[in-house]
Amino acid sequence: MSKNKSPRPEPESLGLPPCGVDSHAHLDMEDFDADREEILDRALNSGVARTGNVFLGPEAYRKNRHLFAHRPEIFFLLGIHPGDADQYSPEAVSAMRQAFQSDPRLRAVGEIGLDFYWDAHPRALQEQAFRAQLALALDLGLPPVVHCRDAFADTLRVLLAEGWSGRRLLWHCFGGDGDQAQTLLGHGWHLSIPGPASYARNEALHRAVAAAPLERLLLETDCPYLGAEPWRGKRNHPALLGFTALAVARIKNMPVDELWAATGRNACTFFGLEALP
Ligand SMILES: [Zn+2]
Repeated sequence: MSKNKSPRPEPESLGLPPCGVDSHAHLDMEDFDADREEILDRALNSGVARTGNVFLGPEAYRKNRHLFAHRPEIFFLLGIHPGDADQYSPEAVSAMRQAFQSDPRLRAVGEIGLDFYWDAHPRALQEQAFRAQLALALDLGLPPVVHCRDAFADTLRVLLAEGWSGRRLLWHCFGGDGDQAQTLLGHGWHLSIPGPASYARNEALHRAVAAAPLERLLLETDCPYLGAEPWRGKRNHPALLGFTALAVARIKNMPVDELWAATGRNACTFFGLEALP
């Protein structure tokens, strides 16, 4: 007997209104070199009106920002990832400062943080780079976007020591449980929810999302990684954000159009972007 597997639905078929925002994408990566324009068009055709592209350090920003010169729907984040902590130097942070001061499309310092899963660089160096960039964000009056993997307690310790409780901050790719979510929300921070919220087994994450106030939630693809069901394991891209929205809307027991518009509004407010219709 042959398996009669129905084809995966394409994101355009979801019919979402043009007011969604992907808060976190890596569209300058070479994974998109072959079809970047098509991918950007598909995002717009799938209701993703704005996407935040994350440049992993001042060198990536300098080399790749031209890719979006004619794409006003893309806003920018820039930060030295903990996996690249060896890029950190006072000179690199000055280069970032100059970039932020001259380019209004740069809206947040990130992704920055601690990654003890890959542990690609000494933890002390990761922390030094993280602290220096948090100080830069504070100085510039811009929010940080935090990457944390297997380092919850230390990330929290650094954020509190640097005075971020009660300030505008986005916890990127939230994948924790209800207790962690409540801790972060208690400091006034926002959570960005990625594709794994659509995976059936992530019950702790489902409960965390269910309990979080809608006005503190954003959505992200973190593409090319972390595709939502039914695109799990495939190259992720911003148009697929709608599948994460479907999952989150189910968890929060609300219409997906409403969830889509609310998380889009939250992102516009958070990043200081012009409001969407
Ligand atoms: Zn990322």
